[in-house]
Amino acid sequence: MIYDNSNVFAKILRNELPCNKIYESEYSLAFYDISPQATIHALVITKCAYVSFADFSARASEAEIVGYIRDIGEVARLLGVEADGYRLIANHGANANQEVPHLHVHIFAGQKLGSLLSPSQ
Ligand code: AMP
Repeated sequence: MIYDNSNVFAKILRNELPCNKIYESEYSLAFYDISPQATIHALVITKCAYVSFADFSARASEAEIVGYIRDIGEVARLLGVEADGYRLIANHGANANQEVPHLHVHIFAGQKLGSLLSPSQ
């Protein structure tokens, strides 16, 4: 997979665009989604250049994978949503409507989230 350095999350990582930051580590940067789809909607992106979960799972080092997964859990704890519950989503490719070609996990929380969307929605 070819990584496009001009995507919006790459620009945020290079400080060319602002973000509403929640957390940052060696492996990840977390910030609020600019167009929230739930009461709490955060994004956790990798520091390194991976197009999607498919790319990350194939190419990332074990340290990056462990660091990123632990960071997602840490962000949920920082958001205070662990007790009431939250939903993680990582879109990959066209069928999932992935808009930004840089790996990110969505954290949805702060409300009852209902059941998952059906495949046709
Ligand atoms: P996806 O469809 O999984 O690629 O989701 C991309 C997400 O990035 C969407 O929920 C957008 O609202 C969000 N987004 C796009 N640009 C920005 C930005 N500059 N800051 C924060 N979130 C953004």
